[in-house]
Amino acid sequence: MTVLLKAAPIVEKHTKILKQKTTSLSLKNVVPCLKIVLVGNDPASKIYTRNKKRLSEKINASCEIIVLNEDISESDFVNKLRKLVENVKVHGILVQLPLPKHLKNVDIHKIIPPEKDVDGFHSQNLGRLMEGHFEDSFVPCTPKGIMTLLDFYGYNVMGEHVVIIGRSLIVGKPLAALMTHHHATVTLCHSRTQNLEYLTKEADIIVTAIGRPKFLTRKHLSLTKIPIIIDVGINSLPNKKLCGDVDFEDIIDWGMATAITPVPGGVGPLTILSLAENLLIAAERSIYEMES
Ligand code: NAD
Repeated sequence: MTVLLKAAPIVEKHTKILKQKTTSLSLKNVVPCLKIVLVGNDPASKIYTRNKKRLSEKINASCEIIVLNEDISESDFVNKLRKLVENVKVHGILVQLPLPKHLKNVDIHKIIPPEKDVDGFHSQNLGRLMEGHFEDSFVPCTPKGIMTLLDFYGYNVMGEHVVIIGRSLIVGKPLAALMTHHHATVTLCHSRTQNLEYLTKEADIIVTAIGRPKFLTRKHLSLTKIPIIIDVGINSLPNKKLCGDVDFEDIIDWGMATAITPVPGGVGPLTILSLAENLLIAAERSIYEMES
């Protein structure tokens, strides 16, 4: 039977740990503080930011969603970010993507410094990830959440062949680096990859991060390898329901997967959990900086 890799028990367990950490920080007069900058009214972005705020508050951190007008000028947007950067009480700053077209060329990570980049997308944080040094950097939230998930359910990636579909800077590429660091053998696939089915049939673990509803079906699986499938995709169907990049029903019906993440309720909540973890690391590090 295919095991369902749900996020809920992981989030429950880690929330308790994070709450204890915020209590310890409060004894040192530090309240972890996250500022989320949301430009415009994108409905999906509103839901994501609300969920991030909800978890932050659950662990007794402070979180504010700063909503900016869709037509805010580039200079006003940059100034808003700079003000947040200058505020020593702010530990983490996150700009919810996607941004409106006229702001797409703003290099956010030239403004948000690596120590407040709780998303882990600053080139210094990504560089540290490539080097395998995590002690003074932030690991991007979705890849970090996937490792938390595998660890919780007792799957070790050492020596495993991991096939990642999607090479974005927020999921595929950092995940490939993280998996490699944990001694997996990684194949990173994308839209120009030839013979994708041949590769997925050879995988011990398949990760889909494409943004195409129900893309991965039984035709991508073999009769001999029974992989773990991690579905990162979040897609809206015409009936407004969410679905992943994996045809969940088809894979379950086929019965040739060891385990699979549901959408919703799989990788998404773990991305948010990782953000809360990164925020607390940022708050803890701010104490060392104050003391040194
Ligand atoms: P992106 O658009 O930046 O990248 C998509 C990648 O998929 C590209 O590398 C592209 O080459 C590849 N691709 C597209 N079509 C393909 C095909 N037919 N065959 C092979 N590769 C193909 O996407 P992203 O920002 O990484 O997001 C991917 C999906 O993951 C989206 O649905 C997004 O909403 C979701 N997402 C979820 C979370 C989460 O927390 N669960 C986090 C981030 C992104």
